[in-house]
Amino acid sequence: MSFAKFELDNRIEQAIAQLGYTEPTPIQETSIPLALKEKKDIVAKARTGSGKTAAYLIPILQNMLTTARPGNRCLIVVPSRELADQVVRVLSGLTMFCSRQISYANVAQQVADKVKATLLADSPSIIVATPSSARAQIEAGHIDTEGIEFVVFDEADLLVSYGYEEDLEVLKNRLPEHAQSWLMSATLGDDVENLKKWFCRMPVTLKL
Ligand code: AMP
Repeated sequence: MSFAKFELDNRIEQAIAQLGYTEPTPIQETSIPLALKEKKDIVAKARTGSGKTAAYLIPILQNMLTTARPGNRCLIVVPSRELADQVVRVLSGLTMFCSRQISYANVAQQVADKVKATLLADSPSIIVATPSSARAQIEAGHIDTEGIEFVVFDEADLLVSYGYEEDLEVLKNRLPEHAQSWLMSATLGDDVENLKKWFCRMPVTLKL
């Protein structure tokens, strides 16, 4: 099985080839068509190494290229700076041929608020953040939440166990209800139920 059947934009296909991904991983195989063709919200039991990052990034990038528009469009919420760096690595690879159309900023990194404000002043298409950094930048008015079409909660079980629920509740009140959402988690117990209720509409649950 190759990536060709997803009928992705050339620039994404070329990046996938350049990165050496020859075939989709099981989570990509199942979730990419559901997200892309059926516009489903996805809840997936997925650990690091499963290809979970590309599983949500590929449909998001494809949608962004298909219906291009400026401004903030996607928020990726992660529990740690380390995971933010990993997400940015995959993002940088997948956008290597469309970096003029799709920009991103990592506000999870440990830099002064002034620097984060500068990164956001360019209205990046994709913002990678921890719940606290996302909340701070939203409350400072640096993120246009109205324009957000795609929301990802990566390592959702850790988002909860690290005690970010209060920040996540603020995000729930600020992000548009109609945004397409992905909730990726190593476990899918009661702990992530709140996040599921808050951010997902009739999601497809994948336990691969
Ligand atoms: P993740 O599970 O998202 O942390 O991904 C783990 C690693 O697998 C990352 O370095 C990705 O670049 C890589 N990867 C993702 N999808 C594929 C694929 N289809 N084939 C080969 N490597 C992949």
